[in-house]
Amino acid sequence: MRYDAAARQRRGLPARPRPGSPSRAAREAVLERDGWCCQRCGRALAGAAYSLQHRLPRGRAGGNAPANLVLVCGSATTPGGCHNWIEHQDRRAATREGWLVPSGIAPEDWPVRRHDDWALPGETRWAPCLPHPLQVDPESRWAA
Ligand SMILES: [Zn+2]
Repeated sequence: MRYDAAARQRRGLPARPRPGSPSRAAREAVLERDGWCCQRCGRALAGAAYSLQHRLPRGRAGGNAPANLVLVCGSATTPGGCHNWIEHQDRRAATREGWLVPSGIAPEDWPVRRHDDWALPGETRWAPCLPHPLQVDPESRWAA
């Protein structure tokens, strides 16, 4: 049967994920790990717009592993939320803070500055850690 998004919506079925998107199980695991709150601003997201941010973009071979996905408010394409800020407002700051991962570095090696502490997104929890040296070295291109 042909895929019909409108028909799925009329029948109350969730939209089918785009090819290459996280599986439903992977999405649910990230939502659970992140407590249904935006990991950047802390906003509760039940009933609000949210999306999963790929820290290393899919276009640069970023996959759907838990270390590469964080729950943020809004979407990449609509203004006003953290996902849009990360993608379009200040990519350098977003990279320094770990919401984006620079080329040549694995997401597992590039922590996120979250709730004023550095941590890595794991499978079921965030693991506190030290920042990558390039995230704090004033000589680095990612420094403030
Ligand atoms: Zn937010």
